[in-house]
Amino acid sequence: MALIITEECINCDVCEPECPNGAITMGDEIYEIDPDLCTECIGHYGEPQCVEVCPVDCIPKDPDHEESEEALMVKYEKLTNG
Ligand code: SF4
Ligand code: SF4
Repeated sequence: MALIITEECINCDVCEPECPNGAITMGDEIYEIDPDLCTECIGHYGEPQCVEVCPVDCIPKDPDHEESEEALMVKYEKLTNG
């Protein structure tokens, strides 16, 4: 499952440089996660790095992008090999 940044985001900028997949960018008003790039950090880290650093805990799983751990690993392999 990709993660999603909710409107509670305070634009503190700390998550963006932590993402190993470059999935986090500034959107129109708050930061956004590209679900095609987010692997929940699988393949890189044991825990989602953005969630680890977010001071307001506003990065839940995105129910519209449900993926198994296997699917996330396939995504990781595509991102790193492609
Ligand atoms: Fe990036 Fe990992 Fe956060 Fe997904 S969970 S947006 S891959 S830092
Ligand atoms: Fe927003 Fe959290 Fe990222 Fe800060 S760490 S920019 S509050 S999502």
